[in-house]
Amino acid sequence: LNTEQLIEQDIAHHLHPVTNLHRHKRQGPLVLVEGKGSKVRDSEGRWYIDGFAGLWNVNVGYGRQELVEAARQQMARLAFQPTFFGLATPPVIELAAKMHQLLPHHSHFQFTSGGAESNETAIKIARYYWALSGKPEKTKIISRRMAYHGIAMGALAATGVPAYHADFGPLPPGFLYLSAPLAYRNNPGLSEPGFVAMLAQELEDLILREGPETIAAFIGEPVQGAGGVVPPPEGYWQAIVPILKKYEILLIADEVITGFGRTGEMFGQTTYGFQADITSFAKGITSGYVPLGGVGISPQIFERISAPDRMFMHGFTYSGHPVACAVALANIAIIEREQLWVNAAERGAQLLRRLRELEAHPHVGNVRGKGLMALVEVVEDKGSKKPFDAARGIGERLMQVSREKGVIVRCNDTGFAIAPPLVITEQEIDELVNALAETLDEVLGA
Ligand code: PLP
Repeated sequence: LNTEQLIEQDIAHHLHPVTNLHRHKRQGPLVLVEGKGSKVRDSEGRWYIDGFAGLWNVNVGYGRQELVEAARQQMARLAFQPTFFGLATPPVIELAAKMHQLLPHHSHFQFTSGGAESNETAIKIARYYWALSGKPEKTKIISRRMAYHGIAMGALAATGVPAYHADFGPLPPGFLYLSAPLAYRNNPGLSEPGFVAMLAQELEDLILREGPETIAAFIGEPVQGAGGVVPPPEGYWQAIVPILKKYEILLIADEVITGFGRTGEMFGQTTYGFQADITSFAKGITSGYVPLGGVGISPQIFERISAPDRMFMHGFTYSGHPVACAVALANIAIIEREQLWVNAAERGAQLLRRLRELEAHPHVGNVRGKGLMALVEVVEDKGSKKPFDAARGIGERLMQVSREKGVIVRCNDTGFAIAPPLVITEQEIDELVNALAETLDEVLGA
């Protein structure tokens, strides 16, 4: 099919996720056909810098033949076997052992096909742990506003972005929300330690109000991502973790974006110096070459849930898909061999430094980021921090113009979210930021 036919068929038959369907009927898709390094090519032959690494996930960049070969060999040898009923294949066993090496505070790992499934798994394991500890009333999950944990019902309930909830209710009960640790919007003028103390107090107040005996777990991304890229203030996790321990509440770290190098260390937990009871991950574990996610759990949780005479009644057909696990092993080998977290830290510092130049723009309210995840927040009025009215379609214009300038980033009415492959070069970062600066001037005036 040529580009015109592809666009026609897409409009006619493809129901796009997280898309304005009305507008899409008129505009159709940008069809991408090939990738190399940090760049992708469209069906008309034009190359773009992929400033969003697919969906924050193509960490090793495009065109890695080692991953193709790993998939090919496993498909040819044994395309599929489940991990139910005590079955296993070499790739899933090796990947579980590799994950233990990367996250030594977790002894056991179960795999899924993505982030939402991983968070469903994490939440269910937390509840199961308390049920088997003789505390079946410990079921509530504490989350935070601006959190994004995925689209399946449990993960959706943990998600703290109202737009994802609207018109899909009722959601499962038992989810509680705290403030996002976003100084730009939520710090009432306190010092950084004062802001952290305020957030910690909010957590403790919520726990005492609800009763710690009713709360199973706190779920949080080390750096909030899809809700608006929120690197926490200094000392945030050090303030939160002891409160959770005090009230016997499990900590689930959602490392779906932050895992596998993006924050400048292999995991966000290393970047921020804490250890969760359960870690969920996905995206960067295969750099998106095939779908895979999973969770790691502490030895204490494993000990409890492997009680006598109990079946662990949770898992997906594709928990530990051998092809996905083989690709994950090859992908992790590339990340380690090329120490891509180092490039994420270095290029991330450059990215943030260059993006901060945009703060001089009359409509850039805030620039924030950690490693290779960043956000340029645009506002109608800098003084009041008032966002743009949705009716103006600012996000749509930013998307159109940035693509015309040869870069793909996530654009919405909040601004640009940027998360390129971890292999991005110094020159590509400059090209990317220059294109975004020109886009801002063109859409919102210089
Ligand atoms: N958790 C986080 C932090 C995410 O960013 C995402 C997706 O962006 C998810 C979970 C959901 O992952 P998936 O879309 O693979 O279900």
